[in-house]
Amino acid sequence: MAFTLVGCKDKQLSNLTNYNISLSYDENENILTGKETVTFFNYYDNMFENLYFHLYPNAFREDAKNKVVSSTKIEDAYPNGLSYGNIEIKSVLNNGNQLKYSIEGQDQNILNVSLPLQLYPDDIISIDIEFTVKLANINHRLGYGENTINFGNFYPILAVYESGKGFMLNPYHSNGDPFYSECSNYQVEIDFSKEFNIAHSGKLMSIIEDGNRQKVKIDEDNIRDFAFVLSNKFEKISTKINDIVINYWGYKDDDDLNVRLQTCVDAVETFNDMIGVYPYSQLNVVKSNFVHGGMEFPELVLISDKVLSDDNDYVIVHEIAHQWWYGVIGNDEYNHAWIDEGLTEYSTLLFFEENDDYGFKYNEMIKSITNSYKLFEKIYTKVTGEVDGRMERPLNEFNTEPEYVQCIYNKSVIMFDSLREMIGIKKLKNAMKDLYKDYSYKNVSPEILIASFIKSTHYDLEGFFNSWLNGKAMVK
Ligand SMILES: [Zn+2]
Repeated sequence: MAFTLVGCKDKQLSNLTNYNISLSYDENENILTGKETVTFFNYYDNMFENLYFHLYPNAFREDAKNKVVSSTKIEDAYPNGLSYGNIEIKSVLNNGNQLKYSIEGQDQNILNVSLPLQLYPDDIISIDIEFTVKLANINHRLGYGENTINFGNFYPILAVYESGKGFMLNPYHSNGDPFYSECSNYQVEIDFSKEFNIAHSGKLMSIIEDGNRQKVKIDEDNIRDFAFVLSNKFEKISTKINDIVINYWGYKDDDDLNVRLQTCVDAVETFNDMIGVYPYSQLNVVKSNFVHGGMEFPELVLISDKVLSDDNDYVIVHEIAHQWWYGVIGNDEYNHAWIDEGLTEYSTLLFFEENDDYGFKYNEMIKSITNSYKLFEKIYTKVTGEVDGRMERPLNEFNTEPEYVQCIYNKSVIMFDSLREMIGIKKLKNAMKDLYKDYSYKNVSPEILIASFIKSTHYDLEGFFNSWLNGKAMVK
C-alpha cells in the first residue's frame, strides 16, 4: 500500500508517525470528543498485520485491576470521593472503510487494529479513530480537579515496536509513569469554552473565537507525546532564553510567579549547558491539581499546587530535567524506569550543585539520600527478612511504592554518585552529553546507555552498571 504523507517536512521527519487530532471538550459533562488520523510509515524490517494502541484512560475505570493510584494516595487523589473515567472507541477506519478491531488487555487498555492488507517495510497506512474520553474527578495526569483540567495520556497512542520482541503492550501501573512511545509529528485542534486558558505541548498556530467557544490549532514535529491543561484560574508569566519561550502558569493572585519563572529559567540554562540544548521553541511549567509532585510531557510539565505551597523548587527542576531525559532521550518507562528517573534525579542534584544560591549542598543531598536508602534496607530486612534492591525490573515487580521510590530514584542517584567517584565529574558529564547528542529523539535501552557510557568514558562499566541494576552492589 502506498499513501502520500501530507505535510512531511523532510526525509527523516517524514518517516515519523503522524498524529492529526481534532478535539472538543464539554466542560459540563467532562467529556472530550476526539478524532485522530494516525499515519504510520513502516520503517521496520518487519511486515505488520496489526497495529496496537494504548488506551491509558481505561485505567481510570471503576473495575480496572491496576489502579491509577496506590491505596495510600486515594484521599489526596480524589477530592470528592471515588470517581471514574474511560475511553470509548467509536470507530476505526481506513480510507472510509471500517477496520476490524478489538479492545484487549486485562484493563481494556490496548486497542488492536487489524490492517486491511499486510503492511510491508516502507509501506504507509492512515487509520482514523473516533473516540470519547470521560474524565474522572481526580487530581491526576488525566482528570479534572478544583483548579485545572489535565489532559495527559488521553488519546490512542501507538505502542512501540521492538525488533525481536514485538509491540510493547505494557499495562498501566500506579507506580511510576507506565509509558513508552516514539517521537512523532502532531497537528492538534482543540475546541473548548472561552472561560478557560490552555497550556499545551507544541507551537500555537492560531486561535479562532466563535461565540463562547474557541478553537486552537497546534503544530509540532518530533515530540514523544502531546498533553494540555485547561484552567479558568491560570495566570501566565513568560520570558525567553535565546529562542526558547519559557511560560510559567500559576493561579490568579499568586505572588510567586517571578520566583517560579526564575527557577524555570535557571533550570533550562543549566541543563542546556550541562547536557545539550533544548530543541523545542517553548516550555510550559504548569501549576495544577496533581496527586504526586509533578509529571513530565513534551514541552509541558505539571507541578502539583500542593508541592508549590511548600515553596519547593526541587520538583520544578526535576520535571524540567525530564525534558532531556524522557522527552528527547526516551526509554521504556515501564520496564526500565531507572533510565529516565535516574538521569533526571541525578541531573537535579547537579543543578543544585551548580546553583548554590538555592541552598542545597550536593554532599548533604547524597548523604541524606544514602541514609534514606539504608533506612529502607533496614526496615524491609526487619519486616520481610530480605530486601529486593533491583533497579532493573518492570513497575509491577515493585512490591510497594516506597520500594519503587528507593530503588528507582534514590539508588540511581547513589549509583551515579559512585560512578562519579570512579571516573570523575568531567567524564560523567561528558557521558551524559554524548548520550544526549547521539540518541536524541530515540529510545534507549539499558544496553544502549551502558554502551554509550563505555564509549564516552573509555572505562569498562558493564560490571559496574549490572551490579547496581541487579541489586548486588552494596550501598555504603
Ligand atoms: Zn521524574
